[in-house]
Amino acid sequence: MPIGKAYLVGAGPGDPGLITVKGLECLRQSNVILHDRLVGEEIMRHAPKGTELIYCGKRPDHHAMTQDEINACLVEKALEGHTVCRLKGGDPIVFGRGAEEALELRKAGVPFEIVPGITSAVAAGVYAGIPVTLRGVASSFAVITGHEDPTKDEASVDWRHLATAVDTLVILMGVGGFASIAEELIAGGRDPQTPVAFVSWATHPRQRTVISTLERGTDDIEKHAIKPPAVITVGDVVQSHSELAWHENRPLSGRRVLVTRTREQASELSRLLSEKGAVAVELPVIRIVEPEDWGPFDQAVDCIDEFDWLVLTSGNGVRAVRDRLLERGLDVRALAGPRIAAIGAKTAEAIENLGIRVDVCPDRYVAEALADQLIGEGIQGKRLLVARAAEARDVLIHRGREAGAEVTVTPVYRTLPANAYEKSIIKELGEGKIDVVTFASSSTVRFFLEMLGEDRAKEALSRAKIACIGPITASTATDAGLRVDIQPEDYTIEGLVEAIVDEYRD
Ligand code: SAH
Repeated sequence: MPIGKAYLVGAGPGDPGLITVKGLECLRQSNVILHDRLVGEEIMRHAPKGTELIYCGKRPDHHAMTQDEINACLVEKALEGHTVCRLKGGDPIVFGRGAEEALELRKAGVPFEIVPGITSAVAAGVYAGIPVTLRGVASSFAVITGHEDPTKDEASVDWRHLATAVDTLVILMGVGGFASIAEELIAGGRDPQTPVAFVSWATHPRQRTVISTLERGTDDIEKHAIKPPAVITVGDVVQSHSELAWHENRPLSGRRVLVTRTREQASELSRLLSEKGAVAVELPVIRIVEPEDWGPFDQAVDCIDEFDWLVLTSGNGVRAVRDRLLERGLDVRALAGPRIAAIGAKTAEAIENLGIRVDVCPDRYVAEALADQLIGEGIQGKRLLVARAAEARDVLIHRGREAGAEVTVTPVYRTLPANAYEKSIIKELGEGKIDVVTFASSSTVRFFLEMLGEDRAKEALSRAKIACIGPITASTATDAGLRVDIQPEDYTIEGLVEAIVDEYRD
């Protein structure tokens, strides 16, 4: 087998948007990925299905892979013919040992490329409103390790000289050793009152900045329980933080919001929440599976001409229909004939993505609104085919039949409670560490209760605010004895996020 290739790629400091376009391309092309602890999970979602993921960082109860093991693994995988992506936090070279890995690859004759990444040394300041250089204030900066290789005989960082040689000092891995670093800098002539910023988990939703001084820094590390990973910035530029901080000042910064959805659907809500600054904690409560019997849907499709309307009531339904057609060797042309109705904007978008125009889509995302609109179209004597979840509400059917339509309902998927859930999330919820729990459908409410058992679920929810996407979901919650704190006027994911933002507006 021909030799593969290795890419040493910087994943950026944490915000999944901060990987480069080239880095992402390499990631998508690779079939083996070796990744570090500081590489965000969201970036890993870009890895193609079936890619072998090898975690090189420390695990809770295991040792991390040693550098030699990482080198050996990289070389071995590439020699086996794989395209290997070595994904590192920040930039692969800046205290990243990327150069050492490249040397090993070279020795083994493996072709490689190195893709720079946005280093936390610069990004932490950018996201905390602390520019590393600033006209009139700082015209130089240095990036320094606070954690010298303990195997080296003598420390090579000359803190005393650095103290006054550069305007802004950016220190990585310096939390543990800050006391002696500060002492050395002061001994080297830096003013003890020089402002210092500790930015931990920079660019992540949980980013936190603590402002201090050289003199007080050690006490503040203890007082504010500052833990790695953190970037320490020393210099007058730190003063800009009070005016330029933006990432931590977003409307939901510091809030933790539970997203109870299906695995497939969670990402949109999570993305919008994190855009507003919240930490989205995903707890899948639903699984989408095939209907027990495809017969009714298949038969309906085989005589699609006999229907006047095809009604789709969710994105999951649209995807299920598409997959079923493909599975049977058909495609969307098999749906030609009836006019198309969608329950809401997201469903309409999913349909349009298949290249099918939607004829009717109500503004409000509930079955009643869709029924009203269809009735407005004049459905008396018409034949409606409704493709939807096996266990959906029957409003559309009743209203349609009342209006004189002949309604055929065919299940195209089923929703079942998730098989398992993450205990640590439920623990956090019980401890009041989650501010808001979102429910984006009645079934998420029901399945959440079912998954945990009613008593445990209620207890877990007692300390969080409950947000429901619309009136139906809200009444499912109140019927089950839950209190609903947040409910948008606009029954969409965007509306839900806005309502949560409103709740926390001061
Ligand atoms: N190659 C990385 C640095 C690796 S050394 C880069 O270019 O960013 C690891 C140190 O980087 C951590 O101890 C911490 O000081 C810093 N670091 C990395 N990511 C960080 C983040 N998101 N927030 C704060 N510090 C971070």
